[in-house]
Amino acid sequence: MASKELNAGYDKAVPAGRVTLVGAGPGAVDLITLRGQRALAEADVVVYDDLANAALLDFCPAGIERIYVGKRAGRHGAAQAEISAILVREASKTQHVVRLKGGDPLIFGRGGEEEQVLAEAGIPFEVVPGVTAAVAAGAVAGIPLTHRQHASAVVFVTGHECAGKPGDATVDWQALARTRATLCIYMGVRRLGGIAAELRAGGLLGNTPVAVIANATLPQQTVQIGDLDSAEILAAAVQGQPALIIVGEVVRLAEILAQARTCLAELPA
Ligand code: SAH
Repeated sequence: MASKELNAGYDKAVPAGRVTLVGAGPGAVDLITLRGQRALAEADVVVYDDLANAALLDFCPAGIERIYVGKRAGRHGAAQAEISAILVREASKTQHVVRLKGGDPLIFGRGGEEEQVLAEAGIPFEVVPGVTAAVAAGAVAGIPLTHRQHASAVVFVTGHECAGKPGDATVDWQALARTRATLCIYMGVRRLGGIAAELRAGGLLGNTPVAVIANATLPQQTVQIGDLDSAEILAAAVQGQPALIIVGEVVRLAEILAQARTCLAELPA
């Protein structure tokens, strides 16, 4: 494909009624992309939920409508159809709608479902990628998700699957254990005991290192390091908080690398 075609999105006349799905990044305000920030600055209405840092709304023009669709508004997974309907409704008013989503919109963010509804409704949309929680958690904990000596693959996997999925579409933890890839588990805190048991059944040793990183990049960030045998205890300490679980040999590097990084941070400028 010619590069002209690849860049076609930049030349096109911007349609009036459209949606931009923007990745807010993992939490810290300065981890949104410049493109995401620009989309917010050009929004007519913004639709956001809990994982996106509310301080990012300061990038929006003053006085625009801000529609909160998070859990604190009494909504939960079942209301995804309602959120999609809001996007269609707002874009149909010939406005630029920014849908601000935590991390990357297309990694466990139901961005794909929103895209499907917009496509069906004939509403133009684009996606601005964001720093996903796994990448941020690795960075703050001093854990390289891949490493030539320790891990050649990395898996982003959810610990919490929606009900009613066909049996063979559910996560095969024992098969994942056999890959020896770094496992980055989203939404896994509540089920970590069971997941750890499955991984051991798949052949991982009980002393395989595990990190549980909660609120990565935010002031209340915590990093706990243990192993598969102690994983459930680590998870119990962060129940109810957004936490990313990393399983694999690369976690052993955390101590050395996190320490070295702190030293650098303390060097005088
Ligand atoms: N689209 C998001 C993920 C949404 S699913 C992304 O790309 O990051 C929500 C899960 O993401 C949480 O349950 C948690 O597992 C993880 N998560 C999101 N923000 C996080 C953070 N700051 N620290 C640790 N985990 C986080």
